[in-house]
Amino acid sequence: MKDKTRVAVVGCGPAGLMAATVLSEAGLPVDIFETKGSAGCKFLVAGRGGLNLTHSEQAEAFANRYGNNAEIFRKLLAGFSPDDLRAWLRGLGVETFVGTSGRVFPRDATAPDILKIWIETLGRRGVVFHYRHRWQGFAQTGAPLFLTENGVLLEFPARGVLLALGGASWPQTGSDGSWAALLAARGVHLEPFRPANCGVEVAWSEHFRTRFSGKPLKNLLLRCGDRQATGDVVVTAHGLEGGPVYALSAVIRDLLEKNSPVPLFLDLKRDLPLERLRERLERRSGKESLANFLRKAIHLTGPAYSLLREICSPEELRNPAVLAGHLKKLLVPIINTRPLAEAISSAGGVTFPEVTADLMLRKLPGVFVAGEMLDWEAPTGGYLLQGAFTTGYLAAQGLLEWLGQTPRPQPPGCSSQDS
Ligand SMILES: Cc1cc2nc3c(=O)[nH]c(=O)nc-3n(C[C@H](O)[C@H](O)[C@H](O)COP(=O)(O)OP(=O)(O)OC[C@H]3O[C@@H](n4cnc5c(N)ncnc54)[C@H](O)[C@@H]3O)c2cc1C
Repeated sequence: MKDKTRVAVVGCGPAGLMAATVLSEAGLPVDIFETKGSAGCKFLVAGRGGLNLTHSEQAEAFANRYGNNAEIFRKLLAGFSPDDLRAWLRGLGVETFVGTSGRVFPRDATAPDILKIWIETLGRRGVVFHYRHRWQGFAQTGAPLFLTENGVLLEFPARGVLLALGGASWPQTGSDGSWAALLAARGVHLEPFRPANCGVEVAWSEHFRTRFSGKPLKNLLLRCGDRQATGDVVVTAHGLEGGPVYALSAVIRDLLEKNSPVPLFLDLKRDLPLERLRERLERRSGKESLANFLRKAIHLTGPAYSLLREICSPEELRNPAVLAGHLKKLLVPIINTRPLAEAISSAGGVTFPEVTADLMLRKLPGVFVAGEMLDWEAPTGGYLLQGAFTTGYLAAQGLLEWLGQTPRPQPPGCSSQDS
């Protein structure tokens, strides 16, 4: 490829594929590069547990999920909102529905179904996919460089470049964050990658670890500082996993980084107020075992009882008032978060001051960035994929404008009938 007529999108995750959608729909010839042998590996992993595409909550509350970056996301989401995403999916032939929790899922399609239709649609528009091409930075000419599977270094002259290289969790999906050093070498400021939406580590006794790994603790309320989350938690060999743990993991991580104590409290009986719980515990005659009594009197499960025994002294368990206090507010000694590689997402990456409002790198004009490679984090619930789709869409709009092509005023209605 000698002429500079084409645009290069790098990374075949949701952000890169959305960018390729916008650019190809505007009529630009697009080449998309991917280090793995196929597209959307992390998207497929996300689909394994029920693909939560976005959330139905109101715009203000939605933007607030992006924490420190809420203000930035308020503007970004106005450019490509959850409703726009659902409309675009409908155009692709994928209907969505809102679950009881407000989360949005595909109605009849799986993640592989969506990926297949999407890639076929892009192929029909002439988007050229280059798998096993690893982005290696830029040549002196400014053209992106790719290491091919044959070990050849390919220079690809392009009118514009859009990087959508993902974060740094689940590196086996291709999102290994190794691109960060290449951008840092060009003077781009990045925040170090940190785990987000991850499990926590607890130094369980050998007895508890071997007997209770994999066992659920149902319907808990977790509190850490002024944050709280409810739901089921799973005991693992290393500590605790599950939705409420992930929801608090950013707060826990930040405290650990400051060497501050982590006040993570579990309410094991969130349906019973402390006073009523204490009254019930005082009815114990002392003849039956405590485990049996708690099972009958307050429906405490085996794993929850064993967790109490793991953390509290026998004296504390014998005293109804103290036991009630622990049941409502059990301090779990957290020693760490689980490693970045295991986290659902990552914080860190290209900071927002490094990019323009339309997501072009200030230090590398003509190079746009999108998706999880930007330094933002959000809880699970569809906010991660929405963030990737939104930034992919807007970075592509920015690239169109930069190339002098008028971006479409409306989000693209990508039709599977496109030819
Ligand atoms: C277990 C799990 C479950 C999840 N569930 C959900 C969910 O239900 N809902 C939700 O909203 N989010 C979920 N997520 C998060 C979501 O999948 C990610 O936020 C999203 O995939 C990020 O999209 P992206 O395009 O920015 O990056 P990625 O999907 O990570 O894509 C980046 C692409 O760039 C490629 N790449 C990287 N470096 C190079 C290079 N040097 N050269 C060429 N290519 C490169 C990678 O191989 C990858 O294909 C889940 C994640 C995990 C791990």
